[in-house]
Amino acid sequence: MVDKYAVIGNPIGHSKSPIIHKAFAEQTGEDISYEAILAPLDGFEATIQSLIAQGYKGANVTVPFKFEALNLVYPSNRALDEVAVNTLRFLGGEIRGDSTDGTGLVRDIQQNLGITIAGKRVLLLGAGGAADGVLQPLLNELPASLVITNRTVDKAQTMVKKILSKNHNAFSLTACAFGNLSDAQFDIVINATSTGLTDTALPIPSSVFANGCIAYDMMYGRETPFMKQAREAGAQVADGLGMLVEQAAEAFYIWRGVRPRTQPVIQQLRSA
Ligand code: NDP
Repeated sequence: MVDKYAVIGNPIGHSKSPIIHKAFAEQTGEDISYEAILAPLDGFEATIQSLIAQGYKGANVTVPFKFEALNLVYPSNRALDEVAVNTLRFLGGEIRGDSTDGTGLVRDIQQNLGITIAGKRVLLLGAGGAADGVLQPLLNELPASLVITNRTVDKAQTMVKKILSKNHNAFSLTACAFGNLSDAQFDIVINATSTGLTDTALPIPSSVFANGCIAYDMMYGRETPFMKQAREAGAQVADGLGMLVEQAAEAFYIWRGVRPRTQPVIQQLRSA
């Protein structure tokens, strides 16, 4: 019998996850189905319980349910530093959860774009769920320094404190306001804010983009004001499509134990 999976969100119509997972299944010969399911804003848990009752094996979780999903995960499966999960496995009466966004971003930067994070000066813009999910995986690659900046600067400071309380200043990790970036330069600048969705420019000086800098926007599908500013400042620009496919590949691996090739799927989506 085919193993059933789904992605749950609200809204969900725009999701590319069904196309990606169907491509992975065809490529690897795994017998799965994968569909997009719209959950009511107050009905995430009920939707998950209904999927479990119908025999689904797992689900991806997207906006706005990633934080709520963590509450459903069996306590012994929760890493202490996790704030959100995007990949659920249904194992008997237990729900296991993982976050694959960070792995997806790091793989896209290092393997697909060929840029090593070790030793680089990294600027992370944003302190929402996406920024929080990628922070530890970025630090694991040992950048020379990492600065987090956010409109609500307290949130960036809280992220820094949380990491430093566990890691005892093993690296240079700081938070600052957008307005304090005028003297700083970075090799990797990552936009993890949702400003691309509203075509809003970020109040950052173009001097943050060092010579040879890569500017990475987690958003995909069109050029954002951040990408435009970075391109005009001479930076190499990348969107988040590769991250999307890489985080999906990690979820597929968690579910099926098989690692699909991502390049053909990234190319398929880019040419669509
Ligand atoms: P959240 O809602 O959790 O966080 C939004 C972030 O954007 C906050 O830091 C918020 O700042 C900031 N922000 C929003 N509006 C403005 C503004 N006008 N000016 C400055 N900052 C602003 O969203 P997520 O973290 O879940 O997602 C962020 C982005 O990442 C989205 O575009 C999403 O599509 C993308 N994403 C892409 C993925 C991929 O695979 N490619 C995976 C996950 C996310 P404040 O705290 O001050 O409100």
